Amino acid sequence: MDFNEFRSFGNGAIDLLIRYLQTIRERDVLPSTEPRSIIHTLPDEMPEHAEHWQHILNDLENILIPALTHWQSPHFHAFYPSSSSMGSIIGELLIAGIGVLGFNWASSPACTELEMVVLDWLVKFLQLPQHFKHSTEGPGGGVIQGSASEAVLVSVIAAREQMVRRIKSEHPEMSESDIRGKLVGYASDQSNSCVEKAGKLAAIPIKLLPTKEDCVLRAEELIAALKEDLSSGRIPTICIATLGTTGTCAYDDITALASICQRYKIWLHVDAAYAGAALALDEYNHLRQGLDNIDSLNINLHKLLLVNYDCAVLWLKDASKLVKAFQVNRIYLQNNQKLDNELPDFRNWQISLGRRFRALKAWIAFRSVGAEGLRMSLRKHIELSERFEKYVLADNRFELVAKRTLGIVCFRVKGDNELTTQLLQRILENKKLYMVQAVQGEKLFLRFVICGMDTKTEDIDFAWYEIRTKLTELFEKLGEPECKERKNKIYVEAISKQISFNLHDGNVLSISEKSK
Ligand code: PLP
Repeated sequence: MDFNEFRSFGNGAIDLLIRYLQTIRERDVLPSTEPRSIIHTLPDEMPEHAEHWQHILNDLENILIPALTHWQSPHFHAFYPSSSSMGSIIGELLIAGIGVLGFNWASSPACTELEMVVLDWLVKFLQLPQHFKHSTEGPGGGVIQGSASEAVLVSVIAAREQMVRRIKSEHPEMSESDIRGKLVGYASDQSNSCVEKAGKLAAIPIKLLPTKEDCVLRAEELIAALKEDLSSGRIPTICIATLGTTGTCAYDDITALASICQRYKIWLHVDAAYAGAALALDEYNHLRQGLDNIDSLNINLHKLLLVNYDCAVLWLKDASKLVKAFQVNRIYLQNNQKLDNELPDFRNWQISLGRRFRALKAWIAFRSVGAEGLRMSLRKHIELSERFEKYVLADNRFELVAKRTLGIVCFRVKGDNELTTQLLQRILENKKLYMVQAVQGEKLFLRFVICGMDTKTEDIDFAWYEIRTKLTELFEKLGEPECKERKNKIYVEAISKQISFNLHDGNVLSISEKSK
């Protein structure tokens, strides 16, 4: 491929992306793909000769895109958002095009230094503790990892190695393997699956402590577990608290947990993968409480901060603990210039040696939207979920199972869990909307999360129409008296407006707002 063809290929790819994103709202969010259909459609070996770029893009558009679940669709309300923005997409292209790996300073000075600058910008933007800044004197700083899972894992390993060193120095008679066999960590039963996985990978059992109805991990549970483990000779090593749990976006009591962790000298990590972004908003100031006293914190830029996957930041109060755990030296990894001690070799802050220039896409994304643009995007996200919450509250067939926080509304059909499961099944069969279910105590519920690159109020209205219509159909099938809606015109009560859905053959033709 020569540069002229590369230019045409690039233009063709951007045109395809624009076509895809501009029409994404019209596609079913879930594909109608049979298992193995892609495997059967594509040739079973690579082409012997180079193919023209147009054929490649045609196959992407005609074979692969129809078999995707459309994460950037405004009708995608599952999991948590995988955010993106036009600046970030261009950033990703440029990262691949420039193709550097920045494992130490010399391997690409701008890669290391831009990362330090951008992560310090974020400390200011999110009003995080100053000791997380690279530019503050002291051992703290931030590093970009691929995912929250990696961030949690490296924190667990750093905590483990710190504890092994400490116990060995206090009890030289103990063997290292003896010490390692006694280590134990804690998190709540609401923590993300990646926390338990980190424990498996780092060979530290993580106990999942019980939470009450509100899904919050409090000091009492941690103290009880610590006392029990200490009395049976185990060595408490780390607590992983969550700011914004995956199920309901509950916030653990960081202030209380931090004071316990300090008292018992154990590492406190905070997983704020989703909700950490809210620290940018003054109205979420309360989430900051206790963060001064934690050891490490992770926030995914790829959830709410308009940087596309993968881009998860880990901040450490004392990064030298991580470096001590991860450092392995080789002559070929030395920097070829004498550096002051303040410039990190990020290879010692992560699992892999090589590292992508991820800071570039964050830098481009942040510059192309600005701090105000980021705050506006967060507030829009919250407003859309408030709109959805009001719909749920206005329909007495549904109930909320948790207080709405940020962009997630947890709700269910009143009554047996089976009703909620069947409702979800009907919604997913129709493929117009994607949500997943979760459980709290005995109650099964649906998580409605604001996702997509460009979700608008009419998308929320559409989602609510789809949900309530599917419930009416379900009740009709079950013979409930609950379905007096007219087939061709359904009125949905908006908060201050009346929204009319004009239907034709079950499809929404238009949505119009009328004043009362
Ligand atoms: N932590 C929390 C609270 C999450 O909600 C998630 C995913 O949604 C994760 C961790 C895992 O994120 P990642 O895919 O970046 O590893």
